[in-house]
Amino acid sequence: MLTALQQLTECSVCGDGKIVYHRIYSGERLCRKCFIKTFEKRVIRTIARYGLLRKDDRIAVAVSGGKDSLSLLHVLKKIESKFPKAELFAVTIDEGIEGYRDEALELVSQTAAKLEVPLVKSSFEEIYGLTMSKIMASSKFKQLGLTACSICGPLRRKAINILAKRFGATVVATAHTLDDIVQTYLLKAFRGELGSSEVGLRSDGPALPRVAPFRLTPEREVVFYAYSIKIPFQTYICPNAPNSMRNSIRKFLTEFEEKHPGALFAALKSFEKIAKGNTKTLRFCKICEEPSSREICRVCELVQTLK
Ligand code: SF4
Repeated sequence: MLTALQQLTECSVCGDGKIVYHRIYSGERLCRKCFIKTFEKRVIRTIARYGLLRKDDRIAVAVSGGKDSLSLLHVLKKIESKFPKAELFAVTIDEGIEGYRDEALELVSQTAAKLEVPLVKSSFEEIYGLTMSKIMASSKFKQLGLTACSICGPLRRKAINILAKRFGATVVATAHTLDDIVQTYLLKAFRGELGSSEVGLRSDGPALPRVAPFRLTPEREVVFYAYSIKIPFQTYICPNAPNSMRNSIRKFLTEFEEKHPGALFAALKSFEKIAKGNTKTLRFCKICEEPSSREICRVCELVQTLK
């Protein structure tokens, strides 16, 4: 039986080692080694619990060069090496935001080479004939009154899918964390779309599945993991991020979780109950022939308007 002092000074898992991380919502105090081990185990449990990946999947990991996606690449590379029939490659897209992506793209190339993961790259310019900088400078962008992220987000999602399919992926893995997933459900609630579909879970249908192995991992733990295993990542954020609707929700949720530890897990549980089993009926976009819930998909509609 640990004494009260031991509980505060010794790692909750190994009873040894210097404590470097305190999981407030669970009460665990962890040394570096046990933090890394429990972090990676949680990802494996998440994949198994939700059936996110299969033993013979060809996984396209969407990598931006930030801490979340580079951490995901590290963890999935470790997991994939235990499954001989599984394959992994990284996919990265340059949105064409001047002065922002260059460093991130370099970090993605370095990490992929170090981990010996094949890397495929493309850009908005190649896929759509547009860049975010050009879009934002156009008068049509101003007329639309949309935020940069509400254009960039769907364009990037589709570009990743196109590239992943081009290279034979059976699933796309994204680095969305617990925080991101709860933010997305809340965004859906504010758009009147809550319950219309599940977020970051595998579903059958014509669309390439997109899964989020970090869905039960808080963002701050991903940051700590990246520092713990010394992953170099891009530290400055996109200049357009502060204006997004997601950013307002992120600020609110971060503050709420600090005051009420464990609230994000509880919110996810509620959202999952509401969305369970709901999948959008998909048809095929008349222009690009990609799966879509509309006659013309959102991306083709945006590209047509902006060109
Ligand atoms: Fe695109 Fe917005 Fe992300 Fe910047 S913050 S890369 S504009 S989605």
